[in-house]
Order: sequence, then C-alpha cells, then structure tokens
Amino acid sequence: MHQGEGIKKLDIRSCSEESLETICREHSIAGFRARQIFTGVHRHGAASWDEIPSLGADARDMLRNVLVFDGVEIVREKHSRDTTAKYLVSLADGERVETVLIPDAATGRRTICLSTQVGCPVGCTFCSTGQEGFRRDLSAGEIVGQVLEVIRAGRMGDTGFKINNVVFMGMGEPFLNTTEVMEAVELLNAERGLNIGRRKMTISTCGVVPGIRLLAERRDQIGLAVSLHSCFDETRDRLVPMNKKYPLAELMKACREYCAATHRRVTFEMVLTRETCTDREAYALIKLLAGMISHVNLIPVNPTLEGSERPEKERVSRFLALLMKARIPASLREEKGVDIEAACGQLRRVAACEGPAGI
Ligand code: SAH
Ligand code: SF4
Repeated sequence: MHQGEGIKKLDIRSCSEESLETICREHSIAGFRARQIFTGVHRHGAASWDEIPSLGADARDMLRNVLVFDGVEIVREKHSRDTTAKYLVSLADGERVETVLIPDAATGRRTICLSTQVGCPVGCTFCSTGQEGFRRDLSAGEIVGQVLEVIRAGRMGDTGFKINNVVFMGMGEPFLNTTEVMEAVELLNAERGLNIGRRKMTISTCGVVPGIRLLAERRDQIGLAVSLHSCFDETRDRLVPMNKKYPLAELMKACREYCAATHRRVTFEMVLTRETCTDREAYALIKLLAGMISHVNLIPVNPTLEGSERPEKERVSRFLALLMKARIPASLREEKGVDIEAACGQLRRVAACEGPAGI
C-alpha cells in the first residue's frame, strides 16, 4: 500500500493479472487492458505509466489514482572480480535491502538472490543480516521489484539480458513472510510475466516448519533449501535460534514429508565453523539424512562483522570426504562475491554497498 494525498494506492508490481482485471472493471476499463498492464510491468519492465504507451491516455489517467509504481530503485551497485554483482535497493519508505546477481560464466545463466525482509528477526550468530535485527517484511511487489530493477539495469547494456534462476536466500527468513513470498513466486511464474518456472526457484529457510509443510501440502515444485548448520539441538539452538521453536526432529520430519509429496530433493546448507566442522557433526549428518533424497552444500563460514572462525581447508575436505564415502551427495560451495561482501550471510541493511561503486 502507498500513502499518497490521503488515498491508499496499490503497488502495481504487487498486483496479479486477475486483481488488475478487477480494478479495470471497477473503472469501466476493458479487461484486456489488465493484460497489457501486467505484460508491460512484468515482462517488459515498465517502471512508469509512460512506459506502457499501448494503454492509452484515458485509461492511464484513471488508473493513476488507484495504482502506483512504488519506488523500488537500485541506488548503488558493486561488481566482484568473479562477476557477482551486489545491488543496494531502496524502497518507498527509505528502507534498503541488498540483491545479488550471480552469473555463471560456463553456461551464461544468471541466478538472482532476493531479499524477503528488511533485516531478519531470527538472529543466527554468524549472519550479518541476523545480527542487525529486523525492520519489516517486504511486499510481493518489493520482492519482484528487485528482479525487475536488476533486469532493467542489465538490459541497458544487453537487450537480451535474462534471469534464469531465482533463490530466496538474501536478507530475511522467507517463511516468516510466507504470504508475500508465495505471491512473489506466482508473479515471477506468471505466463504473461517473466514466466520463470517453479523448478528454477528455491526458497532457503532456517527451518520454519509451517512453511515447509505448506510446500508439501501444495506439492509445490519450487526447490527447498534448509539451513541446517548443526545436527545437534544444543548447538543448533545457539547458532540458529529458530531451532528452539522447531527442533531438529520436527524439522527433519517436515523435510521428509516435502520429499515424499513433491519427489524433489532437499538441499541442506551446512555453514562450517571451527566449532561445527567436526567428524562428530559429519557422522550425525550422515545418520540424519539416511534414506532421504538430499544434497548437502558445505559453506565454510564467510567473514562477517562478528567474524566466526573458518575451519582449516583440510578439515573441510575431510568433512566432505566422509559424506561422499557414505554416499550422501554433497558439494563444497564455491565462494562468490566475498570481495564485495555479497556472499551468504554478508548482506546488510546499513553501510551496504558503501564505498566507491566498483564498476
Ligand atoms: N533466512 C534464510 C535465507 C537467507 S540466509 C536461511 O537462513 O536459510 C542464506 C544462507 O546464508 C543460509 O544458508 C545461511 O545460513 C547462510 N549464511 C548466513 N551467514 C553466513 C556466513 N557468515 N557464511 C556463510 N553462510 C552464511
Ligand atoms: Fe535470518 Fe537466514 Fe541470517 Fe539466520 S541466516 S539470521 S535466518 S537471514
């Protein structure tokens, strides 16, 4: 919602084609106009009424009173040596989030990492976002707006610029903002919009069980990544405080339900610190994932303000080797964008992308 001259206006990027149809009908505007608006905004990236010229001046003038392009805007960008880019995005109320673009040189495909909240209330110990606290949820339009703005910026240099994969792995916990996140998924998936397949999207959660259950119930083909980090409740309670609410047994049960319902594997993220990169954790993980279709991503902890300590390379290799020996599919995640603080857990609300834009 947008507060302007006493009238509450809807953010146009949050509106589905159906809701635009309803709005058009209420203003005696033909239904096909809704399609024009939706395609204009989501496929062609219009960021103002003037950028949908096919609409006609009368319809535009009428709709201006109800719908607004709610200023999601890239205010700064930084490019890493490894081609990862980080965008500082400002929102209508002045809040800021970060969005990361990860091009794959080998395939030419691009993955965008989206924020779902301003800050995060979970407070994981090694995560910069979590350590900064929580400000507010993002709306569906603000989530999709990150994709639309990055495409806009990309198309300036390359008219064929496309996003292939979407991961909800930026700032915030997606399943503490489930309604808006799932609406954003619908908007990104819409045939007349960007038409990004659900299987090309992944939601990463710290283990909010109702969100996982929802995907299972709907047999949603969207990918699921679970940030596990430790296989012992006493350790996980401390590292990922959400564990106190949804302990490991309950979390793993929900993951198994998701696998059974969707026939999709779950990706488990293991951030490895000196404390957790141990044989004890590796064996516990092997036991936890027995008989389950899964993939483990090992992520040596990235430097954050608090600076959790990285394990030695040999310890990480040994952790990986133990999993492989037990036939648990696993990989070591390649570091991306560490030099510009765009890697996992390095996204911040304050001082983000500060300093000279490294373009
Ligand atoms: N809140 C969600 C999604 C955003 S965090 C979640 O926790 O899954 C995205 C990923 O970054 C998670 O796997 C998270 O655990 C990881 N992460 C956080 N801080 C990190 C750090 N300092 N180094 C490496 N990964 C980190
Ligand atoms: Fe929030 Fe995820 Fe960071 Fe934990 S790791 S504080 S859940 S953003």
